[in-house]
Amino acid sequence: MKKPVPFLFLTMLLSGSLAIAQVKNPVVDNIVKEATENSQLELLGHELMDVIGPRLVGTPQMQKANDWAVNKYKGWGITARNEKWGEWRGWERGITHVDMVYPRVRTLDAMQLAWSPSTPRRGVTAELVLIPDVQDSVAFQRWLPSAKGKLVMISMNQPTGRPDYNWQEFATEESFARMKEERSAQTQAWRDRINKTGYNTRTLPAALEKAGAAGIVMSNWSNGFGVNKIFSAYTKKIPTIDISLEDYGMLYRMVEHGDKPQLRVQAESKNLGTVPTFNTIAEIRGTEKPEEYVMLSAHFDSWDGATGATDNGTGTIIMMEAMRILKQVYPNPKRTILVGHWGSEEQGLNGSRSFIEDHPEVVKNLQALFNQDNGTGRVVNISGQGFLHAYDYLGRWLSAVPREITSKIETNFPGTPGGGGSDYASFVAAGAPAFSLSSLSWSYGTYTWHTNRDTYDKIVFDDVRNNAILAAILVYMASEDPETTSRERIVMPLNPRTGEQMTWPAQRQPTRSGGQE
Ligand SMILES: [Zn+2]
Repeated sequence: MKKPVPFLFLTMLLSGSLAIAQVKNPVVDNIVKEATENSQLELLGHELMDVIGPRLVGTPQMQKANDWAVNKYKGWGITARNEKWGEWRGWERGITHVDMVYPRVRTLDAMQLAWSPSTPRRGVTAELVLIPDVQDSVAFQRWLPSAKGKLVMISMNQPTGRPDYNWQEFATEESFARMKEERSAQTQAWRDRINKTGYNTRTLPAALEKAGAAGIVMSNWSNGFGVNKIFSAYTKKIPTIDISLEDYGMLYRMVEHGDKPQLRVQAESKNLGTVPTFNTIAEIRGTEKPEEYVMLSAHFDSWDGATGATDNGTGTIIMMEAMRILKQVYPNPKRTILVGHWGSEEQGLNGSRSFIEDHPEVVKNLQALFNQDNGTGRVVNISGQGFLHAYDYLGRWLSAVPREITSKIETNFPGTPGGGGSDYASFVAAGAPAFSLSSLSWSYGTYTWHTNRDTYDKIVFDDVRNNAILAAILVYMASEDPETTSRERIVMPLNPRTGEQMTWPAQRQPTRSGGQE
């Protein structure tokens, strides 16, 4: 998911605006009690992150996660199913092992990118070279044959592995300013170097592959200590490897100084052809208004640099735990309660957009949807997403939530409709009242989001528990509400930059078949 957009409208603290006396509600009390005394979050987190692992679309681990969730729900007496929404290029990550073998031996902190082609079993051993700083694309074409048999480094060398907050704390003002200036100049120079080849960062690996390079070597630093982002490879036959900033910088300096370092790269993976892809849907049937729906929502897939613990393992286990609790303490809801664990959010909200196309009856009769997808933190923001009367019903539902939870939440009513940040936006675009339970950052953008450090140990279980209670109570209140929610929209504001009238985000089609060559 993308980082949250700034809020445009009036912002207020709920504790102030909802100074209504809280009425004792036994269902709410039981939700809190079950969540606190019988939490399954740690177990769910362990089984999903440690045992199943990352959930890249098209991998066997994604399928395992789908099956695991269905079985968990069945074990709790909740109806669940995997719904096929499309198909994707099937791929399975194998081991990555990268060693410097010349001029000395050193095992490196490296990882192949998602969908990287495999090396032969014994690996490849080759010399490292840098993308040259050529005059123009003609000169680059003349250089290209010399890439044959080489491992080509395509990322710039970061001048510091220390995050800016660390410089801010310890550097003199002058040296911090100088470092930033040098880094900007270096970043621009590297951009120019890539541009002069006549390719971009997406097409360059393919050109190098065609020229017979042995592999692509890069480093996508995430601006924190020891952390890189791991996305997909653009090569079709040769491996693409990400190397940690520390090791990449060492190799870069060695190449520049003529030390001619050599690596042995073993990066195994399996191409699995085309595989079907699923959303996991679970349901507690309504008793009075079964054709009306309240939904919980969180994407199930992840990138595979680590185990997708905070993107979006935590959103996933919040929704599973909320469903488990609701089944325990509120087994006969007025409206039907659904949860959507979406596939392929990371490639463009594909699972949720497919569900919307496939289930117009749910979208039409959706009372409300609650999505969570920005890390492990406790919820601190809820926007009305541009639904004019969101305050009326969300305010009503939030008033039943314990103060220690709502006192941390800023609300923004009516707000403006969210863009493409996460799956709630798919529903907002379809005109259905869907909301994002937006979390405190816990350094999400730098340290865990799409990184090789997004692991179980980063989960803050107290905050996740807080969110499971919040989600369960909101669903209970939305289900019980005698009124059907209004879908009336705000008059869209003017774009502050262009002065033009903004429009409600358009509904977009999912990619139902992806990753194929
Ligand atoms: Zn996400």
